Amino acid sequence: MKSPIQQYLDALHEQLQANTEGTPYQGIPATAVADPQKFGICLATVDGVVYEAGDTDELFSIQSISKPFTYALALEDLGSEAVGQKIDVEPSGDAFNEISLQRGTGRPDNPMINAGAIAAVSLIKSRGPRSRFSRIQDFYSSFAGRDLELSSSVFNGERMTGFRNRALAQLLRSFEIIEDDPDGVVEDYFRQCSIMVNARDLALMAATLANGGVHPREHNQVVEPETVQNVLSVMTTCGMYDDAGSWTTSVGLPAKSGVGGGIIAVLPGQLGIAIYSPPLDAHGSSVRGVETCTRLARDMGLHFMRSG
Ligand code: GLU
Repeated sequence: MKSPIQQYLDALHEQLQANTEGTPYQGIPATAVADPQKFGICLATVDGVVYEAGDTDELFSIQSISKPFTYALALEDLGSEAVGQKIDVEPSGDAFNEISLQRGTGRPDNPMINAGAIAAVSLIKSRGPRSRFSRIQDFYSSFAGRDLELSSSVFNGERMTGFRNRALAQLLRSFEIIEDDPDGVVEDYFRQCSIMVNARDLALMAATLANGGVHPREHNQVVEPETVQNVLSVMTTCGMYDDAGSWTTSVGLPAKSGVGGGIIAVLPGQLGIAIYSPPLDAHGSSVRGVETCTRLARDMGLHFMRSG
């Protein structure tokens, strides 16, 4: 006998599967050929219960959903004051790849747009034998509760096409926001975007944020509650780029999308939500993913401003 939540999720999945709007990300060969029919929804509670519907085993690149997690690592390493000197927390309302650096200082508006995300990578330093990227990869893996791998075909695609990101890294270096070699920093940014996850991994990563930084199944403290609070705040105001205002009104949950077709949303204290569906809208967010979150928020009354 299926639980009421499972029955609801199966019905929602079937309904939204019919929406065929949007196109998979054409920017790199690996995502351009993604099957537009693939669609998985996963909910993970802070008690470690996982509900799944559809293609939740399908692996895809994390892309920009990596950004809040690298920002979290920078906050853990350096504290919010030092990080704030390099990356602001103001919503820019810009597209993900906008070349927007603050006048005079060159400080990126927030860590969810590419400029801020690349700056965040530069703040992660290697430690002993562990390179910057292996620290990032291990950190994401602790959120997921399993070892996550990089896709070399996605990575090669990012390298072949990442001219604007390279330019951003050079600009950030010219303003001394990045103090390291900008080429090495942007290579690690390409690597972090190329980490492969499935919807279950992302739901558990989101649930770890929902659970004050404690993994709901492994029970280890992955990050401090203060870091979670900072990360969820920027996800709320900046996570959906130039769609952040309408997202906050219609869904009302901190969230992050990626051009790989993934979206995460977090209901603090309760739930991590993840969707995978490759066709994207004009903002670069999964069409079925946005629709699923909108429906979940409405049907389950999840909007954080809801009272009564
Ligand atoms: N790798 C993509 C970029 O940096 C990520 C964009 C996204 O997922 O929004 O352009």
